[in-house]
Amino acid sequence: MNFPVEKFKTLDTPFYYYDTDLLRTTLRTIHEEAGRYERYHVHYAVKANANPRLLSIIREYGLGADCVSGGEIRAALKAGFPADKIVFAGVGKADWEIRLGLEAGICCFNVESLPELENIDALAGEAGKVASVALRINPNVDAHTHHYITTGLSENKFGISTEHLEMILDRMASLAHVRLVGLHFHIGSQILDMDSFKMLCNRINEIQELLYKRMMIVDIINVGGGLGVDYEQPDRQPVPDFAAYFAVFHKHLKLRPKQHLFFELGRAVVCQCGSLITKTLYVKEGVNKKFVIVDAGFTDLIRPALYQAYHRIENISSALPPQEYDVVGPICESSDCFGKVVSLNETSRGDIIAIRSAGAYGEIMASQYNCRRLPGACYSDEMP
Ligand SMILES: *Cc1c(COP(=O)(O)O)cnc(C)c1O
Repeated sequence: MNFPVEKFKTLDTPFYYYDTDLLRTTLRTIHEEAGRYERYHVHYAVKANANPRLLSIIREYGLGADCVSGGEIRAALKAGFPADKIVFAGVGKADWEIRLGLEAGICCFNVESLPELENIDALAGEAGKVASVALRINPNVDAHTHHYITTGLSENKFGISTEHLEMILDRMASLAHVRLVGLHFHIGSQILDMDSFKMLCNRINEIQELLYKRMMIVDIINVGGGLGVDYEQPDRQPVPDFAAYFAVFHKHLKLRPKQHLFFELGRAVVCQCGSLITKTLYVKEGVNKKFVIVDAGFTDLIRPALYQAYHRIENISSALPPQEYDVVGPICESSDCFGKVVSLNETSRGDIIAIRSAGAYGEIMASQYNCRRLPGACYSDEMP
């Protein structure tokens, strides 16, 4: 990626830099690759990054929005996503959030438990409406990803287990203000092994059979998100392999006639277009190591501290031969470390450091711990 380094030196750091050309290329690819198949619809998982500028670009390419809170529904509506392309997921939807969804007329609620279903039925009844719902099924498929971000195992808090499905379908028949429109699944995040998605397809085929025996066919199958990106080498394949991803579903998932297939992609859409740009405050000699102390901390990008996540780190203002450093932030916690034994071009005070692949679960997870300022944002197409 080419960074306008001279320009960066004049800006207040830290900030997120978004390459809007790369975002548009990614969105164009999604549009083309999903467009090869009939009734494939991609929803953007707003939780990955709700930056209004990015949301409005994503909307331009016709994606829907997958929201997990009332605030996200508001952000999606404000960015111009049509209500009928918004789906609403989450294990703990509050009453005001459900009412907001009903009022806006969203496409569907992804329901995760019987008490939630009964509550949606009651609130829809009060509003004189019938809510469209998809049942989120826990498919008990291991996504072979980090245990913090795997969600499709029966030990996770998410979804309805298949053992409870029939009971819930029975119960649903007596609820007048909910209508079953779909089945929803999501097995985890940062998944690069296409076999995990293949196993998901096989499980969905079995569950569709189970419904079919009850003479039921839903309109929508929603397979969630989770497609991963290359954090090690962000420039190797900056646009994830959407062709291979959609092809797995086309090959293994048995859709019934006229069924719509929904995807909810977050990370794969926005991750590679974003970098956290930070300035070197000090280079400190430790015992047997050197520290590069930067002005960004885990308040700006928490993934390394929270999930031991790897991000590629580059000194984009030095052309000197590389040396090894620990790259750390200013926050008073030992976990405030972006990388250990990182090979960086020889670094000195004032150098600009780019922490790559930070477009997803970066800016949106920023906090003000230590009374710090939230990071800023700038965009490649707005650079003078
Ligand atoms: C987080 C989440 C997504 C998006 O996951 P990515 O890994 O960012 O693609 C999609 N659907 C649901 C239900 C989620 O919780």
